[in-house]
Amino acid sequence: MKELIIEMPKIEKSLNKAKLVAEIRVENSEKYNLWFEVEKEYEKYLCVETADAFLVALIPYFVKHDLNVKINGKISSKLYYQLINYLFPLLRRGYKKNNLDIDCQITDVKYDSKGVGASISCGVDSFYTLFKHKDLSDSKYNITHLTFFNAGSHGEYGGEEARHLYHKRLKNIKSFCDENNYKLVTVDSNMNEFIMMSHLVTHTFRTLGCVLALQKLFGKYYFASGTNFDDTRITPISCAYYDILNVHCLSTENTQIYCSGIETTRLEKIKYISQFEETYNWLNVCIAHNDGENCSKCEKCIRTMTALDSLNKLQKYKNVFDLDYYQKHKLAIYSDIIRNSRDKEMKEYYLEIYYTFKQNHKKLPFPAYCLSIFPAKVKIKRIIKRILPQKLIKAYKIKKGILNDGFTD
Ligand SMILES: [Zn+2]
Repeated sequence: MKELIIEMPKIEKSLNKAKLVAEIRVENSEKYNLWFEVEKEYEKYLCVETADAFLVALIPYFVKHDLNVKINGKISSKLYYQLINYLFPLLRRGYKKNNLDIDCQITDVKYDSKGVGASISCGVDSFYTLFKHKDLSDSKYNITHLTFFNAGSHGEYGGEEARHLYHKRLKNIKSFCDENNYKLVTVDSNMNEFIMMSHLVTHTFRTLGCVLALQKLFGKYYFASGTNFDDTRITPISCAYYDILNVHCLSTENTQIYCSGIETTRLEKIKYISQFEETYNWLNVCIAHNDGENCSKCEKCIRTMTALDSLNKLQKYKNVFDLDYYQKHKLAIYSDIIRNSRDKEMKEYYLEIYYTFKQNHKKLPFPAYCLSIFPAKVKIKRIIKRILPQKLIKAYKIKKGILNDGFTD
């Protein structure tokens, strides 16, 4: 049986940055220097005493390839216990694997880690986590540092294109942090180029690998979850479905990780963040545009806009969404809400939006119900053309100035 071998990490310094680097290799294959890079001021927080960060980031890789792991050095004793006794047996069963064992030494090394971290993307989950942990009376739970990582979300297979996008998005994140006085910690990594797996099935491990590289900084870390507790299960579709298990098993003596947002729903999160002015000019949920702007047309933009509409909060976000586009396509958008709230796959996202419209006495118009019986891809204009008498359509076009009435030039 092949092994993944991880050597102990070292620090490599450059002018403004520092890297935590460890040599890794799968038996007899070429070695790979995997690194986590931080700004110079965070060098003192990089952990050379354990290989925790490397082990955790690579869990999906050695699960996929059914490898055992040999670490030529130490990992956290708490991490070892949790992996061996809980996470690995469950992953072995869930992914139908035979191996996943670790050969290593363990340590109880303790740092004085006082920082409290959470990621910032300016999306719903990260804003919810940020505002939930601000100005708490028990101040040790207040977020002290926001984080932004190049760990797969800007391109799951890494490379220069992903790094370029990471830097492009980072500019926006830096502006948000500067404007609102938050400390920002960035981590760049070349793990993506080694792992070469889908982001969806690996992202929790990649993110928490970056967090554990900085265990001397983070005593607590809030991992913003995008899934509901009710959906918890081990499935190869996405590691997000068992985040509640991951955060427990990947915490160490030094860094306690929490699954923030698991206790509520996306609509409740949107309702919560819409109380905070900081989100009005910064909310960014788009999955279509890479340049930091919401397109206002993709499924995620539309879903977020409908949720805000159902809560009577959409106007507040006029600077980040195209409300003219929304207004113009309202009938089609409303019919999509009704259709999706009945759809087996989509209702987990839309049913609560549909009910919130009802709760807030915002009536979805009757034509939207009529249109919702047609499949989503059927063009509304075509349906209207078929249903309405030609005379009515002509009269409407004349009224709107689309057609002249035959009397004027
Ligand atoms: Zn979009």
